[in-house]
Amino acid sequence: MEAIAQFFPQITTPKHIVITCHQKPDGDAMGSTLGLYHFLIQFGHNVTVISPTNWADFLNWMPGVDAVLDYEAGKHRAQAILDKADIVFCLDFNVLYRTKHLEQPIIASKAIKVLIDHHQEPQESQFDFGISDTSKSSTCEMVYDFIMQSGYQDKINIAVATCLYTGVMTDTGSFRFPSTKASVHRMVAHFKELGLEHTSIHNNIYDNFLENRLRFTGHALLNRLEVLYEYNTALMYITKQDLLKFHIKTGDSEGLVSYLLTIQGIKFGAICIDRDEERKWSFRSKGNFDVNTFARKHFEGGGHFNAAGGRSSDSLEQTIKKFKEVITAYEEDLQ
Ligand code: 5GP
Ligand code: MN
Repeated sequence: MEAIAQFFPQITTPKHIVITCHQKPDGDAMGSTLGLYHFLIQFGHNVTVISPTNWADFLNWMPGVDAVLDYEAGKHRAQAILDKADIVFCLDFNVLYRTKHLEQPIIASKAIKVLIDHHQEPQESQFDFGISDTSKSSTCEMVYDFIMQSGYQDKINIAVATCLYTGVMTDTGSFRFPSTKASVHRMVAHFKELGLEHTSIHNNIYDNFLENRLRFTGHALLNRLEVLYEYNTALMYITKQDLLKFHIKTGDSEGLVSYLLTIQGIKFGAICIDRDEERKWSFRSKGNFDVNTFARKHFEGGGHFNAAGGRSSDSLEQTIKKFKEVITAYEEDLQ
């Protein structure tokens, strides 16, 4: 993978560009792809954002989201666009399997592949150009750096700023996590000077749910939480029945995991959701417990030091049992 600066000369001549991200895009994945989209279209490129799957409704207010293709919902159309692409931008993922059914089409594509990402241990050999920086708060901040370094900062308009703000806000827990460096606040100051209205973005993302989602949260906190004080760990699981009963859709369970770390002394929060195709884990930690390594080692996953995901093809019961077994080896690390 060559340095991203080597790619800059390609920005100015119109091309067919596809931008993609990880499956079930979150605020950072959707924000970074759309932020880059609004930047690139100003050069006359033909740009299409292709998401590997659907996404949460709370992202549907974002500028440009109506033009995003859902690969699972329309494979042929998306494939035809990918076939024509000169450049494919891969944002907010480190390993191609995170694009689910788009993995093989991306590998097969002859387009130049550009990675912009902040997850640990990227598959660098799969990309022609790119930047991987695990110290960055978000992929949105990296897209901002990309734009600034390209020399076209005058192309940061309100649409670009709105999309990039969304991802940096969600990936930093609203500017709270240690990844929120001075550079993040400087970037936000720049957006504010351009006229960004941040309050409506917070409201659109965090205060825009249906009643069932709040009741589901109550149910999970009351009935599906177990605190393993010996390991300073809080564990939660969500059954298929829970998902059905509360009409849970993509994105409705996002944020649940952060409640676990609100308990005094808890350093490790883990939530397992019994999805159709797999048991999906979300791991979060405070301080020096490395959930990226934990997820990689035990649950076919990965991510960041303090936030990672994983999966299991065992039953929910088996998966929880396994978690309780493996956690015993971490008693010291979790003190
Ligand atoms: P979440 O718990 O929100 O699904 O994921 C937490 C973080 O870990 C996110 O940055 C997400 O992109 C990443 N992540 C989630 N699942 C996986 C996985 O299976 N593999 C890798 N490498 N990263 C993941
Ligand atoms: Mn991210």
